[in-house]
Amino acid sequence: MDSVTSLIELTATGAAERVRAREIEPAELFDVYRSRAAGDDLNAFTWVADGPPTPGPAPDAPLGGVPLAVKDLFCTEGVPSQAGSRILEGYRPPYTATVVANLMRAGAPLLGKTNQDEFAMGSSNENSAFGPVLNPWDRSRVPGGSSGGSAAAVAAGLAPWAIGTDTGGSIRQPAALCGIVGLKPTYGACSRYGMIAFASSLDQAGPLTRDVTDAALLLRHMVGRDRLDSTSIEFPGEIELPHAEDLAGIRLGVPEELAGDGIDPGVLESFKATLKLAEGLGARIESCRLPHAAHALSAYYLIAPAEASANLARFDGVRYGLRVDADELTEMYSRTRAAGFGAEVKRRIMLGTYALSSGYYDAYYGTAQKVRTKIADDFADAFATFDFIVTPTSPWTAFKLGSKVADPYAMYLNDICTVPMPLAGLPAISIPSGLSAGLPVGFQLAGPAFSESRMLSSAYALERAIGFDGSPARR
Ligand code: GLN
Repeated sequence: MDSVTSLIELTATGAAERVRAREIEPAELFDVYRSRAAGDDLNAFTWVADGPPTPGPAPDAPLGGVPLAVKDLFCTEGVPSQAGSRILEGYRPPYTATVVANLMRAGAPLLGKTNQDEFAMGSSNENSAFGPVLNPWDRSRVPGGSSGGSAAAVAAGLAPWAIGTDTGGSIRQPAALCGIVGLKPTYGACSRYGMIAFASSLDQAGPLTRDVTDAALLLRHMVGRDRLDSTSIEFPGEIELPHAEDLAGIRLGVPEELAGDGIDPGVLESFKATLKLAEGLGARIESCRLPHAAHALSAYYLIAPAEASANLARFDGVRYGLRVDADELTEMYSRTRAAGFGAEVKRRIMLGTYALSSGYYDAYYGTAQKVRTKIADDFADAFATFDFIVTPTSPWTAFKLGSKVADPYAMYLNDICTVPMPLAGLPAISIPSGLSAGLPVGFQLAGPAFSESRMLSSAYALERAIGFDGSPARR
């Protein structure tokens, strides 16, 4: 291993193997990525570590000392953790989020914090107080959001791997738009302790990686019950590293509601080509129904803002970050919140507060919760017949910066294929299925709760058949 280029051509798993075989020094690997991250010209990082940790990870640690990029909203002791918001400017938490601590303990030192939409609200990273992130495939386009910094950093080879969070698609959609792998685990699989909350019944941490094997390896060390998060549960069994060569006996359901109308023709073409490959690998493919999927977006955009309005009440100028002084306490609260929150966050706080207000609670929030149950029932019915539900991840490829900012509804439509799964608490993965007009397209598999190992295994077989080349984004 002599050149930087050859080091960054390795996947994270490949690099970890070389470290464990004593062919690469963990400090050398850290330095290569530290200088790449420090030279970030995509605005993907909001903070980069000064140097490798001391003492460094043990050379036989399972994650091999391969440095990790972490979405800004994961609290990290002594390190800026601002969730993409002015209101948390300068906040350096006194503790570290459980998943980050788990990964560090397993041998993945912190490389840096990545840019994101403010409080994870957005699909383009344009809602960050620290400016938008550029897509490495085409710098005039968005990387997706809200984990856009993590996705762009991995796609561009500024980080070997990264973590993000997904509430309605924020891992899978940016992964799709940047041509990498992104996995949202089953709700409760990963502790949410230390993740700055958006919508607590939906938020999950997950990996953004160059390939499916890296996602499996990272996820293996993220999951587990944590007594600091009462919604976390012990993952049944260990996440297995994938090795399936085919899809023999696998039944894939293609929901009519999420794989036809409203999807860009180039994306559909790539989706159909992937279905053909899956068939060639032995999968049985049939169309199916998720009758309530059409209402998922409406339910999500009530439930998520409702929970956000409660979670964001704590940012009042007293406890964290920004304070705008005033003579009177309530005036200080409102000035701080007016100055500290961006437009999208304010929009969601207003929507959520309205949906929860007495007199409207049943009509809006109550109805949305009923729809949520119907969506979970639809998936349960589908999984009686199918191993996985497959859809395009995003209805279109990366769009131009600025093209949807003035139209929140157009922005929300990005999430049409990704919100049903978190509403039902289910795991889903996006893998690159190819390019459409030079831009990456994502293919999504969703499975029953705790089917991650099987899902990764099928995704791996497909990944091999697709043979996607992500290297143009790393140049
Ligand atoms: N784009 C969606 C939203 O704006 C999803 C965000 C997320 O998953 N955090 O809410």
